[in-house]
Amino acid sequence: MNEYDSDRMKDLLSLSHGLEVTTSPEKADLILLNTCSIRKKAQEKVFHELGRWKDLKQSNPNLKIGVGGCVASQEGKKISERAPFVDIIFGPQTIHRVPDLYEKSKRLEDSVDISFPKTEKFNKFLPHKDKKPSAFVSIMEGCNKYCSFCVVPKTRGHEFSRPIQKVLNEVRELASEGTREIVFLGQNVNAYRDGNSKEKGLGLSKLIRETSKVEGIGRIRFTTSHPAEFGKPLINIYREIPKLAKHVHLPVQSGSDKILKKMRRRYTAEEYIGIISKLREASPGIGISSDFIVGFPGETDQDFKDTLDLVDKVGFDVSYSFIYSPRPNTAAEEMEDSLSTETKKFRLQLLQDKLKGNSQKISRRMVGGFENCLVTGVSKRDSSEFQARTENNRVVNFSSSETNILGKFIKLRITKSMPNSLRGLFNQDN
Ligand code: SAH
Repeated sequence: MNEYDSDRMKDLLSLSHGLEVTTSPEKADLILLNTCSIRKKAQEKVFHELGRWKDLKQSNPNLKIGVGGCVASQEGKKISERAPFVDIIFGPQTIHRVPDLYEKSKRLEDSVDISFPKTEKFNKFLPHKDKKPSAFVSIMEGCNKYCSFCVVPKTRGHEFSRPIQKVLNEVRELASEGTREIVFLGQNVNAYRDGNSKEKGLGLSKLIRETSKVEGIGRIRFTTSHPAEFGKPLINIYREIPKLAKHVHLPVQSGSDKILKKMRRRYTAEEYIGIISKLREASPGIGISSDFIVGFPGETDQDFKDTLDLVDKVGFDVSYSFIYSPRPNTAAEEMEDSLSTETKKFRLQLLQDKLKGNSQKISRRMVGGFENCLVTGVSKRDSSEFQARTENNRVVNFSSSETNILGKFIKLRITKSMPNSLRGLFNQDN
């Protein structure tokens, strides 16, 4: 979502001030740091990054430095107390005001705005300037779930959904510019609501159906969804819309009911497994990925074992796991945390090894078969090659004599699996 937000700021500043992106900070008139505060480590990076830029002002007195995103939302003016060379502070809901804040900072006026003016920012966004085969589209923001570990409701505010017609307009405009895959974004993307209907997953399933009718769109994804919002309409849409990628990222966090309760996740391990079975029934072969937190306060060996058991039962694809990080103003911050760092690290390693084993197994199974892939760009390592994405979101590198394939769906035969990518063979006749 920060990537999406940063692109929107880029577009706005290009129009308002004619600014262009540079990769060298020495040349910049304005440096913006769009931050994340989901874990402490991400937050700490902010001051480290800022420190590298503070001397640039000596050689360029006109340089302005801004900090936005969730750390800015959380810390506000405290950021410029610790780093006085920061000129602009804005939150996730005020990124559209950055051009004004930049002007104010040039006039040395107060340029701090971390307020939450709901959908206003979406109304200010411009048509995407960068054309991409696969594009993000934010459809809802914020969260009302108040999981005890999570800082999001505080930093991004409460859930609100963009009107469906506005989202579809953005999709149509992207499709007309060559985008073939849409990735819908939200902190709680399946809590997307269209109008007043409260039925879980209905809003998102309707949006998926309407998007599938947009000419040019060949594939649809969404992230990140919450198990407690994964209602029937969303499960059934997998039967109905083949353009919906057979892959879902559904964070479970833990396999222990006791810990899930303490996390305030609003589901049990069994209920989670129930959703997965229904999804697999609706969409055989669907890939399931997840997020996990280990070392949550009170997690015993047995609780952790329950997580490992759940991993065995579900057979997750590429997933993410983290050691619990206490966040300010969250319920879990006050919980007693008596586990040693060694235990937490040990558990994380065990879990990650298991998850990696699973995803590698899935990759190896793909070798020899054909995959429907979207060509998304040139290969990162070798620019004479192309890069494509499979339906289960793996990167495939391949060479092709045909150069006009960017943004096209092609069939690739998978020839090799590597730790983080696949190799494929393109045969035009397929
Ligand atoms: N909305 C999603 C979460 C997105 S944040 C959900 O509710 O499932 C991405 C991931 O960061 C989370 O799934 C969780 O695994 C991790 N995370 C969030 N807060 C954390 C914390 N305080 N400590 C460690 N990991 C955390």
